[in-house]
Amino acid sequence: MSLAIAYADVAAAHDRLKGVAHRTPVMRSQTADRLTGAELFFKCENFQRMGAFKFRGAYNALAQFSAEQKKRGVCAFSSGNHAQGIALSARLLGIPATLVMPKDSPAVKMAATRGYGAEVIVYDRYTEDREAIGRKLALERGMTLIPPYDHAHVMAGQGTAAQELFEEVGSLDLLLVCLGGGGLISGCAVVAHELSPSCRVVGVEPEAGNDAQQSKRTGHIVRIETPRTIADGAQTQFLGQLTFPVIQALVDDIVTVSDAQLIEAMRFAAARMKMVVEPTGALAMAAAMQGAVEVRGNRVGVIISGGNVDIAQLAGYLA
Ligand SMILES: *Cc1c(COP(=O)(O)O)cnc(C)c1O
Repeated sequence: MSLAIAYADVAAAHDRLKGVAHRTPVMRSQTADRLTGAELFFKCENFQRMGAFKFRGAYNALAQFSAEQKKRGVCAFSSGNHAQGIALSARLLGIPATLVMPKDSPAVKMAATRGYGAEVIVYDRYTEDREAIGRKLALERGMTLIPPYDHAHVMAGQGTAAQELFEEVGSLDLLLVCLGGGGLISGCAVVAHELSPSCRVVGVEPEAGNDAQQSKRTGHIVRIETPRTIADGAQTQFLGQLTFPVIQALVDDIVTVSDAQLIEAMRFAAARMKMVVEPTGALAMAAAMQGAVEVRGNRVGVIISGGNVDIAQLAGYLA
């Protein structure tokens, strides 16, 4: 069976995003290297436009709209960063946008989405079905629905983060990527496979919601209840129809980390690297630094996926 995206799709997205997305820095930490006995290369998407890699996939999708789609607009459902990515991309491309967001989304994410000029509609993430709400809106208003991960243009766009990382640091032994619905890791795995074929790709998800780990191990998409974790960007209940086959084919393993480990990683990022990282953004870093995966002696890429955390909440985690 052929996969939803190929390396050429990521390469095309990379061209589309040139001069639009930030080429984010790859940061090093001698302390992190000393503590782990590895060479860690942190790809810092917390410094991406709107604060997370989601801008890449959103812009790559919207930039390929037809004139008619552009006129009618885009709608999306998201726990936050995808909403902001869509809202910003829509503003840059002059496309009207409506976002369906959980009512308990971090205040910063909702405010930023509205700030980009998008309409925001809220729902209860524990009782309502966001996909049904999004689909109804799309149907009623003729808008194009862009899902947060299960879309080939989104997956290809997210892969450009890994494209930049490999361009900058060369081949790696291991690439650690957080995952919710698997859009980011799908794109990144396709790139790793092409540019650094012997690189192992390992996904990291919250311990409270290890649906991807279960899915990978059982060979079918496992659905779980909405997990209760501080990693709000990874509270997905199941992998996508398009992302799962890529993960099955190109991802070597999936590991989990606890909320306490995420807080530890966020503290390290703040104290040692002077960086604000959101809980979900710290998943791969926590796995690398706290033993969820063996890194000793390896060159390891670690994707820090985002930095959008409520400042008061962050202060609570760091205290
Ligand atoms: C969306 C998101 C993720 C998960 O990405 P998927 O493509 O759904 O796997 C991880 N980190 C952050 C910061 C996100 O916004």
